[in-house]
Amino acid sequence: MGLKDIETIAVLGAGNMGHGIAEVAALSGYEVRMRDIKAEFVQDGYDSIEWSLNKLAEKDQLTQDEADGALERVTPLVDVEEAVGDADVVIEAVPEKMEIKKDVYTDIEKHAPDGAIFATNTSSLSITELSEVTDRPEQFCGMHFFNPPVRMQLVEVITGAHTSDETLDTIEALADEFDKRPVRVRKDSPGFIVNRILVPLMNEACWLVHDDVATIAEVDSTTKFDIGLPMGAFELSDQVGNDVGLHVLEYMHEMLGAAYDPCPLLERKVDDEKLGKKTGEGFYDYDNGGAEIPRDQSREKVKHRLLAVMANEIGKLVENDVAPVADIDEAVMLGGGFPDGPAKMADKAGVETLVETLEDVYDQTGEERYEPSDGLVDAAAEGGFYGSDEAGEVTYDTINVEHLEGSVGHIELDRPHRMNTVSVEMLSELGDAIDRLNEDEEARAILLTGAGDSAFSAGADIQSAATNATTLDGVELSKTGQETFSKLEDSPMPVVAGIDGYTLGGGMELATAADMRVASESSQFGQPEHDLGLLPGWGGTQRLANIVGEGRAKEIIFTADRYDAAEMAEYGFVNEVTSSDELLDAATELARDLAAGPPIAMDFTKRAIHAGRVDEDAGLEVESQAFGHLFATEDLMEGLTAFSEDRDPEFEGK
Ligand code: NAD
Repeated sequence: MGLKDIETIAVLGAGNMGHGIAEVAALSGYEVRMRDIKAEFVQDGYDSIEWSLNKLAEKDQLTQDEADGALERVTPLVDVEEAVGDADVVIEAVPEKMEIKKDVYTDIEKHAPDGAIFATNTSSLSITELSEVTDRPEQFCGMHFFNPPVRMQLVEVITGAHTSDETLDTIEALADEFDKRPVRVRKDSPGFIVNRILVPLMNEACWLVHDDVATIAEVDSTTKFDIGLPMGAFELSDQVGNDVGLHVLEYMHEMLGAAYDPCPLLERKVDDEKLGKKTGEGFYDYDNGGAEIPRDQSREKVKHRLLAVMANEIGKLVENDVAPVADIDEAVMLGGGFPDGPAKMADKAGVETLVETLEDVYDQTGEERYEPSDGLVDAAAEGGFYGSDEAGEVTYDTINVEHLEGSVGHIELDRPHRMNTVSVEMLSELGDAIDRLNEDEEARAILLTGAGDSAFSAGADIQSAATNATTLDGVELSKTGQETFSKLEDSPMPVVAGIDGYTLGGGMELATAADMRVASESSQFGQPEHDLGLLPGWGGTQRLANIVGEGRAKEIIFTADRYDAAEMAEYGFVNEVTSSDELLDAATELARDLAAGPPIAMDFTKRAIHAGRVDEDAGLEVESQAFGHLFATEDLMEGLTAFSEDRDPEFEGK
């Protein structure tokens, strides 16, 4: 069964996950048969799909016709034979009980076409064991969506012991077709990737409190405001459900041993039925204010313990060939909302330091969970999970910098999982990269693009800004962005922004700081700050007017509307519009052309134009001084000679 053979998808279970998966499949154009055991359960699922589709239409993420079309493709059913009789793929999302799932597979094996692939959405159970109750274990794999499937991008595609490569390829292609990001889990290993990292993190949070090393406030303050996760570890446990976390942990404990001993603190919460948000109380009391996490109680010791425990799991996953480091980082960023991959975070903290942290606790307690894994020790010996940087080369976490042929320094914003939103870290890395390129003899133009195909940059990363708000207030945040973007404007080199996709808010301000902009037809622009009661704070109130005129700038900022590339070209903001396929080539070619220009004249022209914004006389003064200066340059001689010899000049910036 290949992707092109798939037309009909059966989803078993219309609960939380099942109805979401059915909605995703229908939105991608597939015929969906959604089955539950009672008519009222399927109807509930169907109603939830209808509600969600209408919400998407209300928010303009779909047209009403598309929403109606998707709903029409979903058939709610109770009869098993009807549900799976003509299915090409069956995605099972029934309760997380081995016996129930085994019964379901035994049953559908009788009715499903021989070629159909079975994919289970189990969060923890063994894919191999489930596959063995069917006659098609090679056509069986895990397809683990995250909650809610409509919004969460990650899908872990899990290899059972018998799964064929063809099955995995097809299910990954199907996940792509669903507009999701599949990450392959190469072994049927408990917790797969994301839960294998998150569940021990939550357990360790409990042990820290249980062992009187820290308070809940200190652990959550550290997790949220120092490590920078979207919520505190205890808050996360409450959100996931303490019973759900404990269930996965117990399974890991059973399969993998004492390193996964559940902490009594967690067990007690579950015994007391304080399951978290869903029951109104867990580690926090949600009927009385919920999680109020102090910003100022983070502790270095807690940070190292939590990072060390996660890093230890990464070491085990790598050493057992469950997934390579980069896949683990991607999965946890997408599935856990981490601002950065846990392996990258471990590298930053120093893997060697984390090994020492574990060794110290292991010496004191003798608990197996603190025994450093071979994979972690190996990573420490190699200078980190990603190895030590090549001598002299600078690597960044949020951007990539490379030299392209033709003296172009290319900066790529590299947070595609977050639509390349600009975090405080990205600002600092951008500033450093621009400074270095300005000093770099090999670079004569800068090209700025965004990784992935959905955004140049969709704006400021509000979450990271809030996380950093302990150290950075609003004024400072604005100033930091202003200073960084000014570096682009003040660079002696021409700067080209190659834009493909969303370019909003802070992302649009970044593009505005470039000298020229090439955009794909599908790009979308806007300054939505007024919708939030804010204003563009990274130079947007100044620079935009210089390009499109004050009237248009006010229109763009006041209305907070979205504009397409053609409109922005008409406004004079975009210099060239191309197809998405041609965008990178066109932007690179423009940057190369500009890089071949006379460097000193480029620099002076930028300065003269910018000086003239404040006062035309000042601009004219810079212009005449520059003109005089250029008269004495070798580049002028080269330009004149090349002109008379009818060839391209080779400027050297002298
Ligand atoms: P749920 O309880 O909300 O839904 C399960 C549904 O399956 C119920 O409506 C139930 O009536 C139905 N069902 C029971 N027996 C059935 C059968 N024989 N045939 C068809 N339907 C049947 O549970 P959920 O949260 O949607 O979880 C479903 C699966 O997804 C579990 O394996 C779970 O581990 C996994 N999962 C859950 C989450 C999550 O956050 N909830 C995330 C990822 C994966």
